[in-house]
Amino acid sequence: AYTNPSSHLVVVSSPGVGHVTPLAGLTKLLVLRHQFTATFVTFSDVPCSLPSSISTIQLPPPPLKDIHSDTHILTRICLTIAHSVSPLRQILISLQRTTRIAAVIFDLFGSDFLSMVKELGIPAYVFITSNYFFLSFMLHLPILEDTTTGEFRDLPEPLLLPGCVPLKGEDFLEPVQKRKSEVCAWVVHLARHYDLFDGILVNSFEALEAGATKFFKKRGGGNPPVWPIGPLIWPGSDVDSEQPSHKCIEWLNQQSSGSVVFVCFGSGGTLTWEQTRELALGLEMSGQSFLWVVRAPNETEISGSFFNPNKTGDDPLGFLPEGFEERTKERGMIVLSWAPQREVLGHCATGGFVSHCGWNSTLESFVNGVPMVAWPLYSEQRMNAVLLVEGAKVALRVNVGEDGVVRRDEVAKVVKNLIEGEEGKEVRQRMQELKKEAVRAMEKEGSSYKAMEEVVSILKDTTAA
Ligand code: UDP
Repeated sequence: AYTNPSSHLVVVSSPGVGHVTPLAGLTKLLVLRHQFTATFVTFSDVPCSLPSSISTIQLPPPPLKDIHSDTHILTRICLTIAHSVSPLRQILISLQRTTRIAAVIFDLFGSDFLSMVKELGIPAYVFITSNYFFLSFMLHLPILEDTTTGEFRDLPEPLLLPGCVPLKGEDFLEPVQKRKSEVCAWVVHLARHYDLFDGILVNSFEALEAGATKFFKKRGGGNPPVWPIGPLIWPGSDVDSEQPSHKCIEWLNQQSSGSVVFVCFGSGGTLTWEQTRELALGLEMSGQSFLWVVRAPNETEISGSFFNPNKTGDDPLGFLPEGFEERTKERGMIVLSWAPQREVLGHCATGGFVSHCGWNSTLESFVNGVPMVAWPLYSEQRMNAVLLVEGAKVALRVNVGEDGVVRRDEVAKVVKNLIEGEEGKEVRQRMQELKKEAVRAMEKEGSSYKAMEEVVSILKDTTAA
């Protein structure tokens, strides 16, 4: 064990549960297992309890007048970060008076902090809270931007990234789908910086992305090292055994093993009114048991509840089809806005997961061996869906109609297929195998465990220097 008391890390998370959770998880791991001290910097409360040895600092949000309400969520995060360079600089300078900072670790929005941190002489690392497929894409994006014109979805051939499944233009990140947009420019800007960090950590594991991991191991060429350190998810032990279980867990306790399909679109996903109805009627038609985290529909935003996950209207379930709750009460459970997802996925009654393919949700499904229906909505989720369906073969992909809506008969078909069908059986088996690999990667001597040891030894060396 290391005993150097001056190995201090600063970990900075961008806004959003999907970013704060893995960054907090990483901080906790580095402090508890590797004896670092740490300061965790974020923009909101931390949604999970950190050990008291980690001090937390909250950065002020940017003035709202600078950001229009219809600005893309990702642009909003980038503007928030750009606005925070100076406050973070003050924090680091003040810490440096008493502490030697071994490194600052950012998430994938950290690019604009990079030159400031380098100026202060502190090593900077980026933690990609997604996978190698995403990282490969981002590193290639500036080349695409500089060498092609027109929309990416009109590219004549799928993109072949080293060691990855082919990627069609239509499945590129949602924010780059309109090349002339402000948000696309932001993504390219973020991407141009990743290889300038001192090291890149990825929340993935070798067995999932063998080809890409191998490519990055050999990459060299003056590029920073890349380490697979996942699946890093928030440990389930956060459940307080003193507290009564959430009502959906009580309900799951009554259901037979592997019978329930869990439907949840992450912390931010929202559907239109029409899509919400089609999903409801499809779940009803499927005849399967379901646990559905329902959100108030949003006609304009697919990540509508990102900054405000608990928003509910006056009649919180008034948008559901008439009589739906009554007709499905024997086998359906509805939870408004938020469910204890990790606990749900770890419950033996849960047999499938209809997911937006957010990467944290996906990793949580892996470690619990729950096969998925991929229903991507925003961000890099379409790429994750390709990785899950065509690469790992642990998910069935939902067919979206030409009008952009997934119709009720498609919902019924895919949900039934996942729980009872032949294809469902295949993805379930494959998911069981992947679960073993995922768990093994994090165990002592596992690939991600060893990668993490390597990262730690470099960070400790930096401190000693
Ligand atoms: N989550 C949850 N309950 C919910 C919805 C989401 O606990 O009802 C958690 C989920 O377990 C995951 C995170 O929120 O850890 C969502 O992250 P993900 O990357 O899947 O999606 P994002 O919200 O960033 O789109």
